Amino acid sequence: MVSDTLFFEAHLDNVAYDLAVSPPVLYGEEAKQAAKKYGSLDHGAYLWKNNENTVALKNKDSISTAAHELRHAWQHKYEHTRFNYNLSAKQSRFRAFFSRKIYQATYFFNRKEIDADNFAADYCRRNQLSYDLRKAKERILISKISRISISIGLIYMLSSIAYLINVSIT
Ligand SMILES: [Zn+2]
Repeated sequence: MVSDTLFFEAHLDNVAYDLAVSPPVLYGEEAKQAAKKYGSLDHGAYLWKNNENTVALKNKDSISTAAHELRHAWQHKYEHTRFNYNLSAKQSRFRAFFSRKIYQATYFFNRKEIDADNFAADYCRRNQLSYDLRKAKERILISKISRISISIGLIYMLSSIAYLINVSIT
């Protein structure tokens, strides 16, 4: 019986091999410290803004999270322009704060995230990791529901504004 950690590490190596990337991967306290300027570390993060090219993972437990973050490393390395990794590293703290807030607000619409989620689900499916696949599918579902509800909210808001403008000019 392979231990969970060994199982996790073997898959991490396998994902990195599949994607032809080899970023340093940090865990636990070290990962939290490294991710600090990106906001708090939820499950995992890919750190790139200062050219760290580093994956930060809270724990060695979720293969789907690891696959998601390694996919960001792949995007950064091979599809830099398509995934818009062009933000200047030297931002003022003020601008960095706002670009982080905008990223959070538009998270579910971000093509980086959609692509990383799809890759993670696909990896788990190909490797018959049923528990991780379920988690990955849940993430995709939440993301879809969020996109739909945010869109409906926006349409409702805009049509209300249009209605009010119409009422006030007639
Ligand atoms: Zn992500």
